[in-house]
Amino acid sequence: MNTPLPPHDRIFDVLVVGAGVVGCAVTRGLALEGARVMLVEKAGDILDGASKGNSAILHTGFDAPPGSVEQACISEGYREFREIHGRLGLPLLKTGALVVAWDDSQAERLPDIVLRAHANGVTDAEHIGADTAAALVPGLGPGVRSAVRIPGECLVDPWSTPLAYLLQARAHGAGFLNHCEVREGRFEGDRWCLSTSRGELRTRWLVNCAGLYGDILHRRLTGETPFTIRPRKGQFVIYDKSAGRMTGTILLPVPSKTTKGIVVCPTVFGNLLVGPSAEEQDSRDNAEVDSEILKMLKSVGESILPGLNRHDVTAVYAGIRPATESGDYRILTDRERQYLCLGGIRSTGLSAALGIARQACRTICGNGHRYSPPESIRWPRVPQISDAGERDWMRPGNGGIVCHCELVTRREIENALNGPLPVRSLAGLKRRTRVTMGRCQGFYCSAELGELTAGFLDPPMDAAIRQPAS
Ligand SMILES: Cc1cc2nc3c(=O)[nH]c(=O)nc-3n(C[C@H](O)[C@H](O)[C@H](O)COP(=O)(O)OP(=O)(O)OC[C@H]3O[C@@H](n4cnc5c(N)ncnc54)[C@H](O)[C@@H]3O)c2cc1C
Repeated sequence: MNTPLPPHDRIFDVLVVGAGVVGCAVTRGLALEGARVMLVEKAGDILDGASKGNSAILHTGFDAPPGSVEQACISEGYREFREIHGRLGLPLLKTGALVVAWDDSQAERLPDIVLRAHANGVTDAEHIGADTAAALVPGLGPGVRSAVRIPGECLVDPWSTPLAYLLQARAHGAGFLNHCEVREGRFEGDRWCLSTSRGELRTRWLVNCAGLYGDILHRRLTGETPFTIRPRKGQFVIYDKSAGRMTGTILLPVPSKTTKGIVVCPTVFGNLLVGPSAEEQDSRDNAEVDSEILKMLKSVGESILPGLNRHDVTAVYAGIRPATESGDYRILTDRERQYLCLGGIRSTGLSAALGIARQACRTICGNGHRYSPPESIRWPRVPQISDAGERDWMRPGNGGIVCHCELVTRREIENALNGPLPVRSLAGLKRRTRVTMGRCQGFYCSAELGELTAGFLDPPMDAAIRQPAS
């Protein structure tokens, strides 16, 4: 089930720890610079941490603290995503967003939100009245005072996006090792010698993208604790596709200091999402949902869009943000030890990942290291699993539809199991194809899927479906 180990004598230019969206983007950036780069991940598949459960909004950065590292990375990442997504086959729903004020005290804060947006370069953000907001979203609940419109906010596919980054990195020679946990490391003058669950690995530069475990890895490598991860859970309810068109735009609340608040928005898969909540917890892994919080989310969602109460909830899930005691990302560079920590990428990493990657490339490649960038750039396309483009079920020779709720074909499943970066868990297969993620949650297709995936998944499907969803 493991990807093969590289030869023993190999020293990488850069080794990236953690295959979340940040690690995948950094690996891509460095591979395009011509570095010999290896991405290692302790889980069997990519996206096993914070990156597996988010709201999938490509933020403009309109509300980020001006002058923060986060704001700079979002802004750079947003621009690059919009430039490249088409060439990688990644969907982009240009929905825009409304920050809606539901009472006078929220309405009083809207002018400051517009000012901050303009200061952050989001100059098309504008204050609009309640009538204009209602005309844009006819189903909005009563009591809207006014709103801020941010036309540039978009929705993306949260799982295919990092996959596309890694596939492009692989097309330029980057390696990927799964089931490879970095346990310890020492810097030996010009290189790192790392002890991992799959043996010793050596690298010149080391990049910590360990997300929810970023502080622990940092301490193991450097002996220092400059920040502490404070896991913050976010729960979601997903409404059936019948609700997907109730709003064509992202509906945001006026944010608080700790959270962007509960969002109501469509998804690129045609559903409607309400969430996330924000609960501090000790566990870095426990993504269980709580019935009281889900009830609260439904009630908030239905007060924003009252018509939602006529639609069914298809699924619920939770993600965990790698928040820290700081309001900003924790990007720490130790040039002497050729070490870079990209930590505390809490609520905006999907939007900022390409910007963070550019910052990492400037740190590593602009420091006397000169790799040989490829003469031409390859643009592998990811399979289209959103409703934004032609799906495999529309094309001949697909082997028939296995999951009828999400229209997933036999060929899509076989390609995910056998293609580049083969998937090795049911959770990973869901993220690659959306199989079992629809209305029946796998009730009708699990038997056929069990046969198709026999010998590929660890744990196998009959065991995996008895485990709580991840
Ligand atoms: C509820 C919620 C909603 C969000 N909404 C949005 C949004 O709408 N838009 C947006 O831009 N962002 C959003 N985010 C933020 C975004 O999801 C995160 O910023 C991002 O996923 C962080 O990615 P990461 O790569 O830093 O960490 P992770 O995704 O946690 O990746 C770290 C990886 O490192 C691996 N790892 C850890 N330790 C080791 C080790 N020692 N050896 C090997 N591997 C290791 C882990 O298994 C994991 O796969 C949201 C997040 C949450 C939780």
